[in-house]
Amino acid sequence: MIGVGVDIGGTFVKLFVMNEHGEIFRKEKIETDYSKGANGFIAQIGDFINSIQKEFPGQRVAVAVGAPGDVDNQRGILRYNPNLKFKDVADWPLADMLKKHTGITPCVANDATLAAWGVYEADLKRQGTNVLVVTLGTGVGGGMIINKELYQGSNGTAGEIGHTKIADLASGPLCGCGARGCLEAFVGTIGIKRRVMEAIAAHPQSELAKLVSAQKDFKIETVSRAAEKGCAAALKVWEDTGYYLGIGIANFTLVLDMDTVVLTGGVSGAAKFFMPALKRVLENQQIKTPFKRLKILVSQNPNIGGVGAAMYAIYRAQQEHVLCK
Ligand SMILES: [Zn+2]
Repeated sequence: MIGVGVDIGGTFVKLFVMNEHGEIFRKEKIETDYSKGANGFIAQIGDFINSIQKEFPGQRVAVAVGAPGDVDNQRGILRYNPNLKFKDVADWPLADMLKKHTGITPCVANDATLAAWGVYEADLKRQGTNVLVVTLGTGVGGGMIINKELYQGSNGTAGEIGHTKIADLASGPLCGCGARGCLEAFVGTIGIKRRVMEAIAAHPQSELAKLVSAQKDFKIETVSRAAEKGCAAALKVWEDTGYYLGIGIANFTLVLDMDTVVLTGGVSGAAKFFMPALKRVLENQQIKTPFKRLKILVSQNPNIGGVGAAMYAIYRAQQEHVLCK
């Protein structure tokens, strides 16, 4: 069995070809081509899948597509996506379009959801029964494994943890989604940058201020470099990040009672700076039981979206499921 994982992003599409033993045969990263519209874009992905069918004759090829945004996993439709700039599509029947091109009905799901499966299979080796994967980057997303199965919810939108609220809806910081008080507005890179700028204004002589002013574009790694040098302003930015993330994770734990949380994405690289504050929030909960044995792990694999899609394609095909139901 061959699994093709397609991880669609606004800038790049990552393609992974694997077998059921986790061997990677091909990985490609192509620029998201807007010039030929949605149909041309799908044709490009379809051509790649067809080339894999030719390359592995006689083998079953299963396909899963991770798409950013609001995905109808039951019907393989990308309902809404703010990052893909194709103008000719509203409800985008990704599964049907790819099937026409390749003869294969792909599983289509939210990208963070399939990345969560990648973490579960590739990193955790399916250890753990109830797992929450939190992706920390510009956006804050998530995916859940419940009773060892990927949980996608009633509409395919489960795991939108970045837009759960941890502050006042009227006065909290503004999130990219347009609302106020979202977790993402605190611990996504834009929220972290906001606190960095506040810290620099309050401490213009700090190492953080020096390092940030010396660079052209703001990079989140700079906050860690300053923290590494013992800069109190930078350490405070990470401490606050851990505190807010802790509030979010405590909320999810009270609802889900999971055994493992895995932090992934670029911001998770700073875990050593924000983890103590995060854990303090969990330790200070009134209801203790769900937090006692909760494991918080960090996993950084930039390819986990594509790997997760390929592995989930194989997993679903082995169970004779079509689409991503
Ligand atoms: Zn939001």
